[in-house]
Amino acid sequence: MSTEQIPADAQLPAPEIVEVSDGIFAYIQHDGSWCLNNPAFVAAADQVIAIDACATERRTRLFQEAIAHISEQPVRTLVNTHAHLDHTFGNYLFSEDAVIVGHANCRAEILHDAPELPARARQMFPSVDWGDVEVVAPSLTFEERLSLYAGRLELQLIYVSPAHTNTDVIVWLPERKVVIAGDIVFHKGTPFALMGSVAGWLDALERVRALGAETIIPGHGPVAGPEVLDDVADYLRFVQQAAQAGAEAGATPLEVARDLDLGRFAEWTDSERIVGNLHRAYSELRNEPRGANIDTATAFAQMLDYNGGQPLRCLA
Ligand SMILES: [Zn+2]
Repeated sequence: MSTEQIPADAQLPAPEIVEVSDGIFAYIQHDGSWCLNNPAFVAAADQVIAIDACATERRTRLFQEAIAHISEQPVRTLVNTHAHLDHTFGNYLFSEDAVIVGHANCRAEILHDAPELPARARQMFPSVDWGDVEVVAPSLTFEERLSLYAGRLELQLIYVSPAHTNTDVIVWLPERKVVIAGDIVFHKGTPFALMGSVAGWLDALERVRALGAETIIPGHGPVAGPEVLDDVADYLRFVQQAAQAGAEAGATPLEVARDLDLGRFAEWTDSERIVGNLHRAYSELRNEPRGANIDTATAFAQMLDYNGGQPLRCLA
């Protein structure tokens, strides 16, 4: 299948705004596959706090319109849950009026990668119109925890990496038992640990579980209850077991992936991530540190091989 045959205008449902608790909104971008992330926002009397931007200029502007439809207040704070471009490429559309907050590693990674990021995005997802993107990093950073207040409502930003990446922050609103999880939670989509840690992610899920959240806004996919944590953990343990068996048999991650029956996980979007996930699990079997630098370019190339040479399906 060539790039031209990817239905860039595929009929996806329009983004959906879900008020999960009074003044707390998820902006669900269906179908949650590559680069279709879920930003969120908290509308207070004196300001809006947004959590994540979108991947493209067009999608970020639509998100901003959705916010303006609900609140007349400006977005004064934008939180980045992690450094990935689908959550941060739209930062520049907020940065005139808003302080952008993220983990110190998130700022460092975005700044480090900035010169190559637009070209890399075009190469990875050639069918996407990114718009006039300028890469902007968080200007306010923290290490472990930071509390923001929307009026009297506390938003606790908690660093949980290495997990999906080395830059992951969740947003916990204890009074409402809501977690805005970023990509610590994929719902109906395949988790992707290549740039983080499989084992660390399992620990991060336990930290989220211990909060006692009743509502979880995932980074991708529909709003969920705490049971979604079990789904993500089940998948990550499945990856670890496949890696263990594959390593003992002397197989490469790609060979393991090709022979692997994904079972119920095959229904989740972006199943080729199994290849990248196995590369990360192999690194951990070699006792390399969680979140260590590994050869992600090879892993991405092998994900395309696994897909029969097709580009990654991206409808952003
Ligand atoms: Zn991500």
